[in-house]
Amino acid sequence: MTPKDKTKKKSHKIGRGSQLLCCTALLSCFMSISAAAQTTVHILDVGQGLSVLVESQGHTMLYDGGDSDRSSYTVSYLQQHAVSSLDYVVASHYDADHLNGIVGALNVFPAQTVWGPDYTADTRIYQSFQSILAAKALTCTQPAVGSQYQLGDAQIQILAPSGSDYNKPNDYSIALRIQDGNTSFLLTGDAEQESEAEMLSSGLPLASTVYVAGHHGSSTSSSREFVEAVRPEYAVISCGAGNPYGNPHKETLETLQAVDASIFRTDELGAIVASTDGTAITWTWEKEPPVLSEAHDTAAASSDVSLSTVYWTPKGKSYHSTRNCATLKRSKTILEGSLSDALSANKKDPCDVCVK
Ligand SMILES: [Zn+2]
Ligand SMILES: [Zn+2]
Repeated sequence: MTPKDKTKKKSHKIGRGSQLLCCTALLSCFMSISAAAQTTVHILDVGQGLSVLVESQGHTMLYDGGDSDRSSYTVSYLQQHAVSSLDYVVASHYDADHLNGIVGALNVFPAQTVWGPDYTADTRIYQSFQSILAAKALTCTQPAVGSQYQLGDAQIQILAPSGSDYNKPNDYSIALRIQDGNTSFLLTGDAEQESEAEMLSSGLPLASTVYVAGHHGSSTSSSREFVEAVRPEYAVISCGAGNPYGNPHKETLETLQAVDASIFRTDELGAIVASTDGTAITWTWEKEPPVLSEAHDTAAASSDVSLSTVYWTPKGKSYHSTRNCATLKRSKTILEGSLSDALSANKKDPCDVCVK
């Protein structure tokens, strides 16, 4: 079963009507949070990186901020969501694809508490992080494993890192679990299998409704034992379209599918927002999902399903059923692949000329 099939199955479970409503309402309602929701977790679209905004009853936590190319996006996303200050700012670890946007956010928003793991990095972005902390008279501390904090209606428990001498910076990632009522979210940054094994032996609760897959869906994280302990109903993967690491890795997708998790990916859906009232989670996302489960609604879309190979250009927005399409005559570079490849590459419009 492919990840697409899995999403399809689960989307039927939450109901076709509600999902379509989510998608269409998203355009107008993406900026406003439903009044019933008590805690909202936004997985921002920072490409190859990670940035998660958690809001609960007016309280906010920013967990990572994405890389330098998305730093201003992260700031403007927060501003658009009426964030004026941050209760918690968490640098999961000091790799650039997590830390850049944190520095950007600290420049703009007053912050109360800053968390980061207890190691140093010999990088420019780490220096910038230290400079902004000094400029704002903030100190960065590593919260103790097992400690708990309140964020509005949500409880946050620290799960990692429990060690202090890792070979890989990723294993220093601060992992935490957010719980509101019967729903929960697990963020592990880029924690790899060494830290996952420590979390497993800690005896702390790992089971979570939503798992933001570690290390962008890389196979260095999300070990089978760990994912089986988390038993997520939903997995969110933050990764860039066509990223050079091949994230998410096939092994990770298989591990997540084996526990029957529905998979949402920022490279396919853009920013993904999960709102919970403590009982159920409502999902919204930015982009039209490249999932064919709803495609049968229109004749045009259902014929798309039969296209095994489609063609597109690096700059165009359409996909084509033949490389001989008249509209491609002047294109020097024509790429080909499956329809889902085309949709992932943001080629979402069926060509008016050749796709019937
Ligand atoms: Zn990363
Ligand atoms: Zn990393």
